[in-house]
Amino acid sequence: MNDRVLIVGSIALDDLKTPYGEEKGALGGSACYGSIAASCCAPVDIVGVTGEDFPAEHLERLRKRGVNTAGVEVVRGGKTFRWGGEYQGDMDEAITHFTHLNVFENFRPTIPESYRNNAVVFLANIDPELQLQVLEQVKSPRLVLCDTMNYWIQTKRNALMEVIRRVDVMLLNAGEAKMLFDTNSLPRAGAELLDMGLKRAIIKKGEHGVLMFSRDGFFSTPAMPLEQVKDPTGAGDTFAGGFSGYVARQGTITEDVLRQAVVLGSAAASYVVEDFSTRRLEAVTSDQLEQRCQRLTRAMSVEALRLQPQ
Ligand code: AMP
Repeated sequence: MNDRVLIVGSIALDDLKTPYGEEKGALGGSACYGSIAASCCAPVDIVGVTGEDFPAEHLERLRKRGVNTAGVEVVRGGKTFRWGGEYQGDMDEAITHFTHLNVFENFRPTIPESYRNNAVVFLANIDPELQLQVLEQVKSPRLVLCDTMNYWIQTKRNALMEVIRRVDVMLLNAGEAKMLFDTNSLPRAGAELLDMGLKRAIIKKGEHGVLMFSRDGFFSTPAMPLEQVKDPTGAGDTFAGGFSGYVARQGTITEDVLRQAVVLGSAAASYVVEDFSTRRLEAVTSDQLEQRCQRLTRAMSVEALRLQPQ
């Protein structure tokens, strides 16, 4: 077993719109955000597909971060996956304008032999049927994480439930968790997820932080308070990538390591939202990341208090 992360997910050209601007054809996709974030802590192998229209410089940007892109398939004459989304008002939820699966419609992920022993596998947001195909190919990773979105909850629920039963950690945002279990209670959704056999259920609450449920209780991290968020796209993928990279870097997986991974993921996500696409995340240094991790852990610590006299 090595210390590498395998990430399989979407590689996209995004059309983004927020109250702070607009960008067309921006580098996006769950695997791109995830791999840049994971590369802050561990070596990363990415598997995905693009069309011939995907600009070579986009893949170069991933390589500059040390991401191994040899597993990215390019379909001759094909068109890259495209997503158009908008955030309005307080930007707490993305409004999807279009999802063009394009080359993802006929994609069958083939995991190169040399990635099959990677320590951590992050099944980033893609069709859950493809996520199942990846699970068939990997060899007992230390930890398997899975992310998804409302699109797949609505269109591929059964396959998604099967994936959840087979992974260690499931990540959902609050709206998705409520939708998946038809409840308004996040602890209820967390309990339902754990009942499906997960080790941890992580529910992302945007600017309100992250909740991680285990059978023994829960852990909670605030989001970094930011005066200006320009584009929340990819925050979830970035969180998950940072989490995966941190876990891969550690020899063993303990409750402390998982909690630290939540903090690292939250710090990484706080950078990506400061600018459009992956731009800010690409520029982040380990020093900056560590500083924000420290600010978050300081904000979370308090002396235990007692009301009863001893
Ligand atoms: P996030 O904001 O973390 O949920 O992720 C945003 C990224 O997800 C964007 O860059 C999109 O290209 C990508 N995306 C949007 N819809 C889908 C989908 N149905 N499957 C896979 N990736 C998607």
